[in-house]
Amino acid sequence: MTSAVDIARDVRAGARSARDVVETHLSAVAGREAELHAFNLVLADEARAGADEIDRRVAAGEDPGPLAGVPVALKDNLCTRGIPTTCSSRILEGWRPPYDATVVARVRAAGAVVVGKTNMDEFAMGSSTENSAFGPTRNPHDPSRVPGGSSGGSAAAVAAGFASLALGSDTGGSIRQPAALCGVVGVKPTYGLVSRYGLVAFASSLDQVGPFAGSVADAALLLDVIAGHDPADSTSVPRPAPSCSAVLGDGVEGLRIGVVRELLEGIDPEVAARVSAAAAALDAAGAKVEEVGVPATTLALSAYYVLATAEASSNLARYDGARYGLRVAGDDVTAMYGATRAAGFGAEVKRRIMLGTYALSAGYYDAYYGQAQRARTLIIRAFDVAYASYDLLLAPVTPTTAFPLGAKTADPLTMYLSDVCTIPSNLAGHPAISVPYGLGAGGLPIGVQILAPALAETTMFRAAAALERSLA
Ligand code: GLN
Repeated sequence: MTSAVDIARDVRAGARSARDVVETHLSAVAGREAELHAFNLVLADEARAGADEIDRRVAAGEDPGPLAGVPVALKDNLCTRGIPTTCSSRILEGWRPPYDATVVARVRAAGAVVVGKTNMDEFAMGSSTENSAFGPTRNPHDPSRVPGGSSGGSAAAVAAGFASLALGSDTGGSIRQPAALCGVVGVKPTYGLVSRYGLVAFASSLDQVGPFAGSVADAALLLDVIAGHDPADSTSVPRPAPSCSAVLGDGVEGLRIGVVRELLEGIDPEVAARVSAAAAALDAAGAKVEEVGVPATTLALSAYYVLATAEASSNLARYDGARYGLRVAGDDVTAMYGATRAAGFGAEVKRRIMLGTYALSAGYYDAYYGQAQRARTLIIRAFDVAYASYDLLLAPVTPTTAFPLGAKTADPLTMYLSDVCTIPSNLAGHPAISVPYGLGAGGLPIGVQILAPALAETTMFRAAAALERSLA
């Protein structure tokens, strides 16, 4: 599979047509999409027209940009002007956003060709893509297994060669976990590095948009395009983002890297073994690697399921049948709201809304929401302590490799445990990257996670690139 870096270079130089590139990816879609269901919507005609326009510009001597002719898939919670955006929920049925998300506008302006909207857990709530109202996505490495979630469609699309790059969103692990299970690179940037304008909100204090790619260099290329200040997002960091592509060859000589002890507890031995192998490889490449305790990370999962559900219960109040998508008639407006929400939301979304509403209700607010906020502060402080002595941290991404479809759907708690290693970074607002690092039983991919302090993406990418090179 050609890398995004190579595609853009060749298309810009006129050495390969964007149309040829898009046809290659559309034939991969034609070959396996019926089996994998990575997409809610394939935009074949639009992609061909977009590619032809790129080729016309190259022929006219213009430079279409750093993503010239690169096929990109978009998670279906990113607003696309005039194109259905469903969040894999019935409640958004028929809705076409009147504007593009900032990240969508940026990838288009950089010359990318949008090939489709990818399947996801409904409103990004889940770890397997089985919570989609439109049926699950399957893992390209073993279609009897899940691709992870909630951005499972984006991960599967890149792993299957349907798109060279994809965008997803990560609230508690939804980019890194499916990236690990599908054997691709996935990045959760620092909170505020990438605009959330036009990302349909799940838990606004945690949500971040980020890249999926086939290599660390491709992920850096896409992050460089989408990162940077956006006045339309009030939480956007108001300064220019440094280039991650520029530092990939810088190596890890002298970097201090801590392997997080608490995040190795209860992890499958075959996954833990790959983390140890990564630690040894980074050490051999010149970093100083040792084990470190970050004790408060053990509070993260429980704090997250209070905070994320509380924010979701508020964010999802807007889907009432009056303004967006589905409307189920009722005798009066209250009955219409109730009937619309009962019919439009799936079981997991309803569970989260009820949990969140409960945690925020009078008499319980301090015991649940307040307590979870205090735990969040402890986690931030524990990371601050660790980062006083280490430049980066190393951890697993997921406790296991991809599990079979249906294995965890009956028990939400076991499903929630899939994110035990990824959630701490969201609560702290820090960046983290999942790098494929070998295979487990049955040839299933295993990812290793590199965590960094806020806005230290360049250091994180140096280590990710070094780790990737150590496999070659
Ligand atoms: N799996 C986690 C959840 O269900 C994280 C989801 C996400 O990052 N969007 O909430």
